[in-house]
Amino acid sequence: MSLFDGKVAIVTGAGRGIGRSHALLLASEGAAVVVNDLGGSSGGEGADATPAQQVVDEIAAKGGRAIANYDSVSSWSGAEAMVQQAVDEFGGLDVLVNNAGILRDKMSFNMDEAEWDQVIDVHLKGHFATSRFAASYWRARSKETGEPVNAKIVNTASESGLYGNAGQANYAAAKAGIASMTIVMARELERIGVRVNAICPVARTRLTESVAGDFMNPKEGEFDRFAPENISAVVCWLASDLAEGVTGQVVKVMGGQVQLLRGWRPITEATDDKPWTIASIDAAAPTLFANAAKGTPPFMPNVGDI
Ligand code: NAD
Repeated sequence: MSLFDGKVAIVTGAGRGIGRSHALLLASEGAAVVVNDLGGSSGGEGADATPAQQVVDEIAAKGGRAIANYDSVSSWSGAEAMVQQAVDEFGGLDVLVNNAGILRDKMSFNMDEAEWDQVIDVHLKGHFATSRFAASYWRARSKETGEPVNAKIVNTASESGLYGNAGQANYAAAKAGIASMTIVMARELERIGVRVNAICPVARTRLTESVAGDFMNPKEGEFDRFAPENISAVVCWLASDLAEGVTGQVVKVMGGQVQLLRGWRPITEATDDKPWTIASIDAAAPTLFANAAKGTPPFMPNVGDI
């Protein structure tokens, strides 16, 4: 008996990179998988059915069950059709892994409208649209049976969104939005038995190959720390019943390291029983910014600082 026997999963952007590994691992653990991929360039141009079909063929060759879907995740009707395809072809939906993504990096002052819109569309809308239709399917099922559905969503955020990477205003805004949406949807869907979590992966794919240089290449005597496959065990654990009770969480996975990340929270506080004035705020500033120079953004923390 495998972990996902009898389960149905959708993985978006599963034709390449990290999503491909998720689809292969889910299928090898018994899931029937809808392999979604538009098949465009890393910047989101064009479309090609080959990557999704290749992964479907790979799964079938190993005796697994999979079907391709070529819709763009940023299409509202495409997302609805993708969920319907899982139900029509495999009889239901248990797991949604939102993973599809592109990069259009530019400094804010050079970014054009299309670069902003496309990245927000693919990541933020592309995570929400599929989740929205999966959630409405699960809500209807739960109403029908009067029982929780036991389903899972795993989203893909990024450290870039949580800590802020120069040159990625579009991508970081979308990824931070995905982290927030994960918490909102975890709260909304808990009562119908859906858990929602997110990962922040770091892996060697076409998105990182050009910027990471040798850093991500396998080193002799070490396991291949940045292989995309290294991310998928965490995703499959989150998507399985082994992770019962875990919801609304964001987990970083990089090489042999896994971290639980937590976001915005009060760090310091100043209070007054009168309306704030510019002068009273200025007087409170040394307390408010006690551990940070004014204007310093919150860079990536060390584990000990959390
Ligand atoms: P990748 O380019 O290898 O794979 C992404 C896949 O998504 C591609 O096959 C692409 O065709 C598909 N895709 C793009 N737009 C789509 C759309 N509109 N509809 C359907 N499919 C679409 O990149 P990857 O590194 O495997 O990225 C996977 C996810 O992980 C992305 O969300 C990315 O932002 C995130 N991520 C990756 C890293 C990393 O280190 N590689 C770090 C942080 C976050």
